Amino acid sequence: MARTDGMTQWLGWGRRGTAGAAIPVSLGFENVTQRFGELTALDDVSLSVAPGETVALLGHSGCGKTTLLRLAAGVERPSAGRVLLEGRDVSAPGRFVEPEDRGVGLVFQDYALFPHLSVLENVRFGLRGLGEAQAVTAAERAIARVGLAHLAGAYPHMLSGGEQQRVALARAVAPRPGVLLMDEPFSNLDRRLRDTVRDETMSLLQEIGATSIIVTHDPEDAMRVADRIVLMRQGRIVQAGTAEELYRRPASLFAARFFCDLEEIEGVVRNGAVETPIGRFEAAGLAEGEQAVVCARPQAFRVVPKGFCLAGRVVGRRFLGEVDQLHVAVNGLDAPLAVRFARPGRVEEGAEVGLDIDGDEVLVFAAVEP
Ligand code: ATP
Repeated sequence: MARTDGMTQWLGWGRRGTAGAAIPVSLGFENVTQRFGELTALDDVSLSVAPGETVALLGHSGCGKTTLLRLAAGVERPSAGRVLLEGRDVSAPGRFVEPEDRGVGLVFQDYALFPHLSVLENVRFGLRGLGEAQAVTAAERAIARVGLAHLAGAYPHMLSGGEQQRVALARAVAPRPGVLLMDEPFSNLDRRLRDTVRDETMSLLQEIGATSIIVTHDPEDAMRVADRIVLMRQGRIVQAGTAEELYRRPASLFAARFFCDLEEIEGVVRNGAVETPIGRFEAAGLAEGEQAVVCARPQAFRVVPKGFCLAGRVVGRRFLGEVDQLHVAVNGLDAPLAVRFARPGRVEEGAEVGLDIDGDEVLVFAAVEP
């Protein structure tokens, strides 16, 4: 059982800039399909990752993220399509490159440390190509970079979850791989630790410069770490772009829901717009008579004095630290709207208010998505 607390996990990481740089390579997936019996885990996926780019594969459990990572690592062979490293097909029969020959570093969700090997031996394990003295020096350097020099002789069961993650990272980067693949690297860490580990990991990735893919189901992880986010659903890529592009211009209701809590109001498209109890919103690209969903981000609503804008009544108030969350009932809506209200002001339950709605924070999508 790993320790989950203890002072050592708060000791700093090693000095930035001491990890050594890798030579990043491009990674590509061309029309990759992966079947497991009847199940299609990946369905015609194509993706190019540029040298040195950090991509987050984001999606709900079971959408195929790990399978794509395993194909890149070479621990799985695609049912169809090609995996390319530096433009070279490494997946085809006859040309298949084994995982240990791909120059790929791996960090698994459970860290997968060898329990019978010390921290130093675990990290040393990945450095097969070097002579003993060189390998030990490189391992010590990687361990120092993640701030664990004092634990080089310890065994995995003696380490906290955060320390184990750092050992796994040191093991993955010690050989300076051209590609680094990380499967949910932060998901086993508690909130407090997670921010630090995430920031330090990102700084290490930048320093090494490897082409990186990080699998996560957490949009915040993806937004913080990645140059580009690839959103997946049921074995397909549904949208790829920067965090800002996906947040501001989600291609579908699914993508919008992934990045933001939304107030959703259903309606029908009439004359190019959807009429709702909170207003009329343009429905660009939707057909006349089509069922639509009007989605308002939390910042779409601003509480104003009674008599202005849309009339509402506060039916609940919750203290959320920097803001209050108000529940505001509006005529014609089944459920109250969740509205943020910034202090120092205060609005009591039962108060009549007005609601100003910022149309730029409202999106309209088809209710039924392909
Ligand atoms: P999670 O976040 O839960 O790890 P994921 O997005 O990484 O999910 P995958 O692990 O890639 O999803 O799995 C995609 C689908 O393929 C799932 O339905 C899974 O059960 C199935 N699957 C994955 N590997 C195998 C396998 N070796 N044999 C059979 N089915 C598999």
